[in-house]
Amino acid sequence: MTLQFPFEHTYAALPANFFARVAPTPVASPRLVKLNRGLAVQLGLDPDQLATPEGAEILSGKRLPEGADPIAMAYAGHQFGHFVPQLGDGRAILLGEIIDRDGVRRDIQLKGSGPTPFSRRGDGRAALGPVLREYIVSEAMFRLGIPTTRSLAAVISGEGVMRETMLPGAVLTRVASSHIRVGTFQFFAARGDTDGVRRLADHAIGRHYPELAQADRPYHALLDAVIARQADLVARWLLVGFIHGVMNTDNTSISGETIDYGPCAFMDEYNPAKVFSSIDEMGRYAYGNQPRIALWNLTRLAECLLPLFSDDKDKAIEQAQFALGEFAEKFTAAYQAGLRAKIGLFTKADGDEALVQDLLDAMTSNQADFTLTFRRLGDVALDADNDEAVRGLFINPTTFDEWAARWRQRTALEPQTPEERREAMHRVNPAFIPRNHRVEAVIQAAMNHDDYAPFEELLTVLSKPFEEQPSFAAYADPPEADQRVTQTFCGT
Ligand code: AMP
Ligand code: MG
Repeated sequence: MTLQFPFEHTYAALPANFFARVAPTPVASPRLVKLNRGLAVQLGLDPDQLATPEGAEILSGKRLPEGADPIAMAYAGHQFGHFVPQLGDGRAILLGEIIDRDGVRRDIQLKGSGPTPFSRRGDGRAALGPVLREYIVSEAMFRLGIPTTRSLAAVISGEGVMRETMLPGAVLTRVASSHIRVGTFQFFAARGDTDGVRRLADHAIGRHYPELAQADRPYHALLDAVIARQADLVARWLLVGFIHGVMNTDNTSISGETIDYGPCAFMDEYNPAKVFSSIDEMGRYAYGNQPRIALWNLTRLAECLLPLFSDDKDKAIEQAQFALGEFAEKFTAAYQAGLRAKIGLFTKADGDEALVQDLLDAMTSNQADFTLTFRRLGDVALDADNDEAVRGLFINPTTFDEWAARWRQRTALEPQTPEERREAMHRVNPAFIPRNHRVEAVIQAAMNHDDYAPFEELLTVLSKPFEEQPSFAAYADPPEADQRVTQTFCGT
């Protein structure tokens, strides 16, 4: 019996230049190392069937499930500011789309499943480490409430992949509300293919923003909607200390999901200039640059849409500029509201922005841990006896004392009880994030000892990031000096 996936194929029904039809290349001996059972159920798939040897073959691309119509999507993109007219899925293959239990259409994509016509010089494969990192971080983001692609499975291929050294190969099954990127629009725009841009825009509207099809100017409305979602997304990243690492236009999703987890990381001590990615030498994608880069990427999207806006180029540019001008306000509103919630404010008052900025500045100069400072601030809100837990995170604890005095004056103006404030703060300030040293340790255990127990335990902890979980308290701790991860490497 062949496993049934209730696939649909709306993307593969688009014109032939949108993709290349290509089957995955079978791997030697696939072994399932992780199945996301809850997500399988959400997709209407039977987790028990996926967990069979046949399931592992499907989730590695060795065997095609019935109804699959495998394609590699075409796209272009600006990589670190330089335009590449053809990128495309060089090591990913879309098997098809499934309507999930909530009625949402989801792409089911294998990543690391072999070469495609877009592979350029790459081998089409993925190494185990980056596959596990993407699994952990994407699922952690989901549990933090941040829009993201998800991970259905990780399968070891039984083959080596050559990077700087020989590494175990793996395939990730990624689930996304779509894989349409800013770079997908650029692919057609760069070829002067306005009809292609229009077909893609219509598809994206139908899929992600169906209500806009009725708008007076649907393509303008599409740009507005993507701007709004990206502004919200980047604000959410900043509010949990997430650094994407490779915010190229081909890694910027039209749906507003976080996509393409490569050398991404959560920061420990707060520092807006923080960069982890080994390939980001100029700090283009540093933590604090992310809003600016999102706007830069959205500007590239707007350029693609100009021919759909108006035949009058000046008018089209003016309209695009107006739309892009909204980004800053949307981002700032989301970010500031998030920050107010992080310090436990229920209302908005003059001086709040300065109050929270002064805390952030003090955290920077005192190398205070981002996640712990905000988490423990909730306990401080409950009882001043808890101050030590936060002030101890600052090199110079009196900096915190001075700030806390101002903060208490401000919170005293609100009617909420300390218990209410703490509870509200703990709902937005996670105790547990995928700290780099933990992710690294998990990957090492899997790679060196074929031990997935640490991976499973980390996933368990990260599935409830806002709960205390006393038995896993150590997972909340920042790294010791010798555990610090200073660089992350690209997911290739
Ligand atoms: P990424 O940095 O993963 O977003 O990938 C950028 C581009 O390089 C995309 O077109 C990928 O498909 C392609 N790529 C990355 N790694 C590989 C690989 N191992 N083989 C083929 N193509 C790859
Ligand atoms: Mg990419």
